[in-house]
Amino acid sequence: MTYRKTKIICTIGPATNTLEKIRALAEAGMNIARINMSHGDHKTHHEVIQRIKTYNKTATMPVAILLDTQGPEIRTGDVMENFTLHVGDVIEITAGSENPESKSVITVNYREMLRDLKPGDRITLDNGLINLDVIEKTDFGLRCRVVDGGVVKSRRHINLPGIRVNLPSITAKDVQDIMFGLEHDVDFIALSFVRSAADVEECKRMIERYKGHAQVIAKIEDSQAVQNYKEIIAAAHGVMVARGDLGVEVPIEELPIIQRRVIKECAFQGKKVIVATHLLESMIENPIPTRAEVTDVANAAYEEVDATMLSGETATGKFPVKAVETLDKILRRIERTGGIGWSRQFKANDVKGAFAQAAVELADQMRAEAIVVFTRRGLTADFVTAYHPRYSTVFAFTNMSQVRRKLLLNRACYPYRIDFSNDPERTIKTAFELLRKKKLLPPGSKIVIVSDILAGEERVESIQVRTL
Ligand code: ATP
Ligand code: MG
Ligand code: MG
Repeated sequence: MTYRKTKIICTIGPATNTLEKIRALAEAGMNIARINMSHGDHKTHHEVIQRIKTYNKTATMPVAILLDTQGPEIRTGDVMENFTLHVGDVIEITAGSENPESKSVITVNYREMLRDLKPGDRITLDNGLINLDVIEKTDFGLRCRVVDGGVVKSRRHINLPGIRVNLPSITAKDVQDIMFGLEHDVDFIALSFVRSAADVEECKRMIERYKGHAQVIAKIEDSQAVQNYKEIIAAAHGVMVARGDLGVEVPIEELPIIQRRVIKECAFQGKKVIVATHLLESMIENPIPTRAEVTDVANAAYEEVDATMLSGETATGKFPVKAVETLDKILRRIERTGGIGWSRQFKANDVKGAFAQAAVELADQMRAEAIVVFTRRGLTADFVTAYHPRYSTVFAFTNMSQVRRKLLLNRACYPYRIDFSNDPERTIKTAFELLRKKKLLPPGSKIVIVSDILAGEERVESIQVRTL
């Protein structure tokens, strides 16, 4: 039996928001469900959260929930009907329905954008598909010339590469959405358009004030985040290379370089990293991926990321379950070949970290099937998984359900909840019984254990080797 190391995150949308579909995705390999606050309302998001919790009640392995904030993003408004722009067309952009003359107007959700722009500036729609140049300001907004044409649809991304808009990093809507998430006990908050470590700290303080436990995932998706990536990684629990917006905000050929740099820095700092967007984009329409997509997924697996994420593939695609199955298959295959090994340069400056590293090195030497770790808050498990054991699956045992769910993001980590006994040996027994009973490992498996033991009256940390 083999365990996939790279985790799978699926965006839940109209194609997958039923209990039945959530179950199908989970059975195909989804570890974490993403709810995107850029779309839908609290009522429908709440329904999805309830369905995931319903699934979790009877599941052998739960699905964690990641709430993705909208952030200071600009989008097109609702269009009555999609319309096409051709190269050379002139088009109006307004902040509402103020312009009665023109039928095919583009509206935006952020009025100030019209003020921030001047003739000569570039506006990009729908992740770079459509490009417009501002010709002049008008009474209603802006007049633009179409440089790259395409179909204008509702609520599409608008990017203004290099132009600093005056929106706060965490908007009033984001605050409401984060509070909504904490109320419903989501496991991760993915913070969109993070610009600096201070943004991450602000979100962490909100969670603390609420006495929430969610971890903060900083999304690297514009040039400021790229500039400040080291401090952002240091401040966050993990980061997401959000290639959708990033690919428009920076020259697209920089994307693979930035991806690699961010992943490497996360490995050095022992932080979690997610690669997102366009992994299997063509599977929105087709039952098979392109060769380039397969290679892109493989690259993320070689780079030893914690998780890969699907967006439109599962939110609106025609083959959501197939997309997860495909991702699962590619990841498993590449993991058999071994990865890049950057994580070994992580030097945690405390005893727990050194201990974890020693356990992982021992497990590698022995080619142990598993590392079993006992962890209350998840800290020891975080350290062990951060070192990316080469051959071993990490079975983490915790007494807290919420810690269990958070560990679903960790590379190669399979978490379980058990009651902890005052006698550490009893706790180890409980864990081993569970491994046997659920047939999680074959009898005779070599296991490295990171656990407390009793030395007389005193509890001391230990690394042990046992056989199941
Ligand atoms: P982001 O930049 O935050 O990723 P996005 O628009 O690319 O925003 P995704 O979450 O990547 O959105 O999902 C892809 C598409 O799926 C969206 O453009 C949208 O059409 C659809 N979608 C996602 N979630 C929902 C939802 N809850 N309700 C309706 N449509 C959704
Ligand atoms: Mg976004
Ligand atoms: Mg997206």
